[in-house]
Amino acid sequence: MARMGSRPSVVLSEDSQRTSGRDAQEMNITAAKAVASAVRTSLGPQGMDKMLVDSSGNVVITNDGVTILDEMDIDHPAAEMIIEVADIQEEEVGDGTTSAVIVAGELLRRAEELLDNRIHPTTIVKGYRDAAREATQALADGAISVDASDTDELERIAATALTGKGADQAKDHLTSLVVSSVAQVTEDGEVARDEIELERALGAPVEQSEVFEGMIIDKNPVHEDMPHRVEDARIAILGDELDVEDIETDVEINIEDPDMLDEIRESEEKEIRDFVERLDDLGVKAVFASNSIADIAQNMFARLGIVAVRHTGDSDLERLARATGGTVVTNYDQLDEDDLGEAGAVSYDDLGDDQVFYFEEPAEANVATFILRGGTEHVVDELERAIEDSLDVVTQAVEHGEVLPGGAAPEMLVSLHLRDHAESIGGREQLAVEAFADAVEVVPRTLAENAGHDPIDSIVELRAAHDGGDTTAGLDAETGNVIDMTEEGVLEPLQVKSQALESATEAASMILRIDDVISAGDLSTGGDDDDEGGAPGGAPGGMGGMGGMGGMGGMGGGMGGMM
Ligand code: ADP
Ligand code: MG
Repeated sequence: MARMGSRPSVVLSEDSQRTSGRDAQEMNITAAKAVASAVRTSLGPQGMDKMLVDSSGNVVITNDGVTILDEMDIDHPAAEMIIEVADIQEEEVGDGTTSAVIVAGELLRRAEELLDNRIHPTTIVKGYRDAAREATQALADGAISVDASDTDELERIAATALTGKGADQAKDHLTSLVVSSVAQVTEDGEVARDEIELERALGAPVEQSEVFEGMIIDKNPVHEDMPHRVEDARIAILGDELDVEDIETDVEINIEDPDMLDEIRESEEKEIRDFVERLDDLGVKAVFASNSIADIAQNMFARLGIVAVRHTGDSDLERLARATGGTVVTNYDQLDEDDLGEAGAVSYDDLGDDQVFYFEEPAEANVATFILRGGTEHVVDELERAIEDSLDVVTQAVEHGEVLPGGAAPEMLVSLHLRDHAESIGGREQLAVEAFADAVEVVPRTLAENAGHDPIDSIVELRAAHDGGDTTAGLDAETGNVIDMTEEGVLEPLQVKSQALESATEAASMILRIDDVISAGDLSTGGDDDDEGGAPGGAPGGMGGMGGMGGMGGMGGGMGGMM
């Protein structure tokens, strides 16, 4: 086995092996740092936007960390692990992606210094993990509880996520929309976040964005003589076609003469006619089908004043069923009265340049549609990302009820706490905990830098405030001065902050441990790192070369599962 073969050489020339491992490590750390530095200038309210142009000339303009990284064409495995930090952050909590990536990069930069001082990667990883645990605890201890019915408070949380995202001029309006749409889908403290749909409409200013307390389906009626508004509507939701062809092909084999075909067609048409009549008898005013609708049915619906829509997407149908208290019927002849949904009104009306169906006062009322307006595609794109973040943080706050002051107050809190904690540890691990404390200060430093303020001054002042017991002190985004963040109303969910530190730590540890495996994994860490079984096997074979990098991709894949 290649792996056995490499072991004696590790033992015999440990130093030289370490040098080559260090090279690989340096390369990984450099790549990871490069990713982090790509998003640094976009952190915070004064952060700058990036313009990303892909190979076919499509342009994305954004300030959003995860979007920047996803749009960048990066294929270095260690760099990809950092991007995964942003992806996990986005998936788990929806905000804080830039912060998470910047912290991950800084953890690696600090680790590099420790490596230069011959501190073993395992020691660093151990210290980092310990520090992350302590930090999470300190954040939880510092959290402020928020009352889910306190609209003002929720609006401040919504605003913090929106700040600097190109929506500032309409911020008050947007934050109230965010909070009301979350309220619309909240029941017993649980937010049905997926039931908030975002719809885009170009051609009006951002200020005219609105929330529709119902749902929208972007489809057209099958017939032009159908009503554009029906009230107290019972709705048939068909995951079926209302047509003849299908049945025809099924029975084709039995057809011997043309008359028989006509007969079959007639009987099928009668079935459809009967069904349409039955719907009318049941008081159905709207029919949404996933497939085609036969001409005879279209004409009948039109005559009966029923609006009908074909080719409705499955997810729209399912959502419609949930919202209106109906059921998606997969076989139309098995439709039951109970399967019908209900809405106060169904109307076909304008949305920007488009015409769509609006379902007003749906029976279950647990849906909301956020209508995003803006002058251009780019404006609406960035607005959409900002609103998504904002909806996510309000969701977190409502569901978990804990927030932290923003403006780098939590990072300074963590940093000071860790410095204390480090003293209780001693040994080399202490240095790693201190490095972690230094690393999280990249957030206040970057916020200050992006605000055009001297970062050293800001950090010194902020640290002094925290030292003096003012744990809610943070940096004023515009001036870089130290202010009380709770007074300023800059609030972020606890989960956004703790998840950022956790995933940053995980990614940094993974990258650091790659060298550990290559140079000395079998010697000193093989025993206690049992969860790494798969990746180390791959690494020695390609040590120092791209083969080893392939192994890292595998570790990156495993990261999601660990968090
Ligand atoms: P992320 O992708 O990490 O969410 P952002 O660009 O949204 O990056 O910036 C978030 C940072 O900006 C957080 O540290 C947050 O506390 C800070 N921040 C947001 N609004 C303000 C404000 N009004 N004053 C100071 N800091 C703010
Ligand atoms: Mg943010």
